This record gives sequence, structure tokens and C-alpha cells, in this order.
Amino acid sequence: MSAHPHPLADKALAKLHRLAEGNGLSPADITLIGAEEQGIAFRAEMLLTLETSLEKKRYPGFARAARRGGEATQLSSQKEMDSARAGFETQISESSRWINETVAQLKEAPGNGFGMMAADITLDGMARVFSASETCTSCQGSGTAPCTVCQSTGYVTCKHCQGTGQELCPTCNGRGTDPQSPHEHKYCPTCAGATYINCRFCLGRRQVTCPACNGRGRTSCAVCGGHGKFTLEQRVLPTVRAEFRPLESAELPSGLRRALDRGGFKLLNRLAKITVGTAEDLGNKKARLAYEAQFPYAEARARLAGKAARITVIGEKAVLRDVPPFLDAPMEAALDNAKATLDKALKLRAMGDLLAVLLSGRELMDFMRQYPMGLSGQVVTRMREHVLRLVQERTLLARAGASCFCLAVLGGIYYALLASHLRAGFAAMLFPAAAYLFDAFVCGLSLLGLDMALRFAAASHMRSLTRPGEKVALSGQRTGVLGLCVGACALFLYLAMLWFLGAVTR
Ligand SMILES: [Zn+2]
Ligand SMILES: [Zn+2]
Ligand SMILES: [Zn+2]
Ligand SMILES: [Zn+2]
Repeated sequence: MSAHPHPLADKALAKLHRLAEGNGLSPADITLIGAEEQGIAFRAEMLLTLETSLEKKRYPGFARAARRGGEATQLSSQKEMDSARAGFETQISESSRWINETVAQLKEAPGNGFGMMAADITLDGMARVFSASETCTSCQGSGTAPCTVCQSTGYVTCKHCQGTGQELCPTCNGRGTDPQSPHEHKYCPTCAGATYINCRFCLGRRQVTCPACNGRGRTSCAVCGGHGKFTLEQRVLPTVRAEFRPLESAELPSGLRRALDRGGFKLLNRLAKITVGTAEDLGNKKARLAYEAQFPYAEARARLAGKAARITVIGEKAVLRDVPPFLDAPMEAALDNAKATLDKALKLRAMGDLLAVLLSGRELMDFMRQYPMGLSGQVVTRMREHVLRLVQERTLLARAGASCFCLAVLGGIYYALLASHLRAGFAAMLFPAAAYLFDAFVCGLSLLGLDMALRFAAASHMRSLTRPGEKVALSGQRTGVLGLCVGACALFLYLAMLWFLGAVTR
């Protein structure tokens, strides 16, 4: 051990000790050989480039600009609109407002936007909408078009009389005689013997008012929807392209470079104290923002379970990188011992933690969060298999006991149901085949009850293995081969009882 103080490496060592505690490694197995500590001031800059995105729209009717976000300006022609828009674009690039708004948005991002690669920042507060109207060329602004149904006459031929103006008399059906007194040769009172009357729809005029234009001869223009004009709209949205660039990255220690290559510069958002300079206007729609990330850094040489390792420690919270899977060895030693009982394996804290996670039905990720380093994925997979197998073995006796008890209870219930002629009564009440429905219902209910009972037995047994306060989820228990066997036994028991009682009553 060197005589120099190294507070960060000591913090890292304490973290490793906490991980190793109860996991088959003593504090003496994890020692610090030496460490180089330094304060790092990592400088970087963000290059900001103003770009404007233009969104064009054309729709019939009046301008709806106010609804679309941004200050709206109405102009009388398209030419005026284009020049007003160009003027606005120049105006925003010449003032520094876009820079201030961008910096304000960056300050709300984590780490003031430190490490943000190739991002587009939209300045919605500065958006502007320009609009101008354009006369509809189809109707020359009138909003109407000649009616095609009546060819602009306003009238169409009467369909009822096919344009004849006459229809067969409905009273005499065209006979001309009075239907009330057929034998007296009287004329029909309606048509007076003419057999035809004036059409009741067009009143003899042979044509009716055009239904499409209501007799006006013109309908509303289909191109502009009757508005007579279109609105041209241009929405200018100032957008800033932000490019983050580290400065002097060549001088970084190798461990830090590896961590940044893997985690990105955003990694430092959480670990470092980040300061932002004031933005510098470079002109020509460009600006620069300077950053500095300050944090303590250490490269520690340590001995972990007999092996030398170089560990990277970053930031005040001592975030560790490059830690070898030093807990693998004690875990594998426990796993390789084939005769290890559950209790022996559970003496290792990590095994107990894994058992608690698995039994409570939580995700494996929960376990990985407790052990973010020190264990390789391969070993965690082996540990999981081992723990699950041991749980299954350990609960076998409890579940077998529950099975025997359940079968005895089911036998009693079956006898009561069948001997009381409930099944026969059910079939007699409905129809003969209903007896099979009764069987299916009873057997289905039995399987459900067995499944629940076995899970409950296993879970309550597991509760005695876990630490107090840990939850045990019923869903974490599998039915297994035993469950299937007991289910089959229950079905056989029911059938045997059915045959036996049937034979006895016969
Ligand atoms: Zn039109
Ligand atoms: Zn018409
Ligand atoms: Zn008539
Ligand atoms: Zn008619």
C-alpha cells in the first residue's frame, strides 16, 4: 500500500467489499495495491447552426394560420409573402434571440445538453406563419360553376310524366267512366271522360325545378369548395442543429476513454459537475457553446481473489468500470459441488438474493441491478438453473404430502357426489348426456383445486426458506411432473368410483 491518500480508490474498495460480503470472499481477498488519482476537467463544445424548416400548405378558403402555432401574418399576394418570409429569415439569423432560446432549451436537458450528439432543436416559440390568398382559376373567384344536371337552365324534365305533362286518370284508371256506377254510362268525375289529367307533379308544365341547383342554374365550385379562393401558407420554424464535440480527447486516460467509447459522453452527465459557458455568436448563423465537465478520476490497481486487476473509478460517486467478474469463482465453487444442498448454496448472499427474486416472481433484471458488476452472465444463468432445481427438489416432499391429502379429500367428495345420486338426478332433470357434463365439471374443478393446493403447499414451504419480509409469489411455482401425476390419479379415482358405484347399484 502506498502512503499517498487516495480517497476515490478507497471508496471503490469499500464498494467491492460490500459486494463481496457474505459471498465467499473475505475483505482480505480484495486489496488495493496502488492508485493514481487526478481531477479531470474535460472540455467540450457544442456547435450550433441555425437552419429554418419551411412547411408549405395550400387549402381552400380563409387562412387558418392562427390555429397552427406561431405568430401569423396575412399578406395580399404570394410575391409579398415570399419576400416577407425571406425578410423574417434574415431577421432571425441577425438577432441573437435564436441563440438565447437554444441555450434556454439546452439548460433544461440533462447535464445542460452535454454529450448530445447531432440533435435538432426546434424553436417553436419563434415560429411564424405567413399566408396569402389566391383566386380559384376554375371559377374565377365566383365560387360557383354552371349546373351540369340542368345545363344551367334551372329546370329538368318531369320524371313522373316523362315530360308529357299528362298522366292516366287515377280515379277511372283511364276508362273515362265513373267507377262508382259502372252500368249507368256516366263520365268519370275527375277527368270528365278525357281518361288523362294534368300531371300532378309538374302541374302540366312538363318540367320541374332542378334539384341540384334549386333552379339557380349554378352550383358551388367543386375545386375551391365554393370559397372562390385558396390560402397559401408558409410556416417558418427555426431549427438549430447541435453538434457536440470533445476537445483535447487525446489526453484522456485509457480507462476513461474506454468508458466513454462504450457509454458515450452522456455518461458524464450523471458523474461529473458540468458547467456551461456563455454562447459565442460566430456570425453566419453559427454559434458555439463551451462546456466543462469536472470530476475526480482514479485508476486503481487491485488484487481481487488472488488476481490483479486495473479498475477505473469515475466521479464523486465512485462509479466502477473494468471490474472483472471476481464473484464468479466462489459461486462456481458452490455450483460445482453437486451434493450441495439448498441451505449450503444459500449461505452465499448472492444465491439468497437470487432465490428471493425468483420466488417473488420478479424479473431477473432485479437481481442484475443488485449485482451490476462482479458476476458474468454465464454464471448468473447457472445460478438461476441451480436455484430453481433445488427449489423444485426441496418442495417435492411438501407437495407430495399435499397431494396425498388432496386425493383423500377428493375421494370423499366423489363418493358423496356419486352415492347421493346427484349425478343421476342431474341427468334426469336435463337430458341423459348431461351426466357427462357433470363428470367434466367435477374433474375440471378437481384439477384446478389440485393445482392451487400444490402451488400453495410449495409457496408456504418456500416461505420458511426465505428471509423474513420477502414475498413469495404463487405464480412462481410450477406444477411439474408431480402435479400431472396427481391430476391423472384424481381422474382415475373418479372413473373407478363411477364404475364401482354404478356396478353396486346395478
Ligand atoms: Zn372555384
Ligand atoms: Zn340545375
Ligand atoms: Zn277519369
Ligand atoms: Zn309531370
